[in-house]
Amino acid sequence: MAIDEILSGLFRIEVPLLHSPLKSINSWVVPGGARTLIIDTGMNRPECEDALRSGLDELHVDLGQADLFITHLHADHIGLVSALKRPGTRVLLGRHEASILEGWTGPEQFFTYIETEGAKLGFPPDELEQAKQRHPGIKYSPRTYPKFVHVDEGDEIRAGTYAFRAIETPGHTPGHMCLWDAARKLLISGDHILGDITPNITSWPELDDALGSYLRSLAKVARLNARIALPGHRSVIRDVASRIRELENHHHMRLEEVLSLVDDHPRSTYEIASMMTWDIDLDRWEDYPVAQKWFATGEASSHLEHLRVLGKIVYDRPGGGWRLAGPR
Ligand SMILES: [Zn+2]
Repeated sequence: MAIDEILSGLFRIEVPLLHSPLKSINSWVVPGGARTLIIDTGMNRPECEDALRSGLDELHVDLGQADLFITHLHADHIGLVSALKRPGTRVLLGRHEASILEGWTGPEQFFTYIETEGAKLGFPPDELEQAKQRHPGIKYSPRTYPKFVHVDEGDEIRAGTYAFRAIETPGHTPGHMCLWDAARKLLISGDHILGDITPNITSWPELDDALGSYLRSLAKVARLNARIALPGHRSVIRDVASRIRELENHHHMRLEEVLSLVDDHPRSTYEIASMMTWDIDLDRWEDYPVAQKWFATGEASSHLEHLRVLGKIVYDRPGGGWRLAGPR
């Protein structure tokens, strides 16, 4: 069992994510005091639940006296909230994120979203059908969600010797939240800042210009001058400022690449995604698994949308296609 005390009284339980390139998720636990704080949980899968429960047992955590703080609505973070909840467990989630899940009527809603969004992005219908079946977001989420305690910007969450403030960081998801302990200059960064991988930024119906929001959230967090960041996946980040700069540079280079693929001939988001370079061990777009194509097209979409907001490109409808701004 992978538990380590990362800072005094603050533990990491590494929860495995089988068959996922993310490999594992970090659940951060601050035991002791009146209540234990558990930050993020893992997917709703038996091996995640076993790993998290045995870690919590080892730390002698009483779930009935615990608060679960969830950084964002992705299945690998929120997946186990319903399984872990006891009478007395509070599940804390950002207000915006909670409002999305409170409007959730079941998998059909998600399938309809994939169909309409996929058609807009120019996804071929046969691949869309596969994308629906293989999307991990549905398979590993809780079947039903518990009642959430809504968290707002600046809310205080105390545990052990830690006094966190909630910081809204929309971008990776519409209502993503980080936790900030000012005395220690410690940021619990969720998937807003990751060290070894680049957080996925896709488009959301609930968030205009997701990439623009993400870049503003990066700038907001940069102003905190964090000394250490504890991310949702992989290693602890010791040089937070450099990592933020790397992420900013990454997206600026991506924006340049995407802009270079837009000309006067309208192209769909899917088509542009197929022309971009991707860090995957396959040469041809045609050979990519459909799930990868779905994530790649979402990533392309957030960059195209940001270029549109910057006034550099336009989307022609009907017909559907991105082209350079200006008269044709
Ligand atoms: Zn995430």
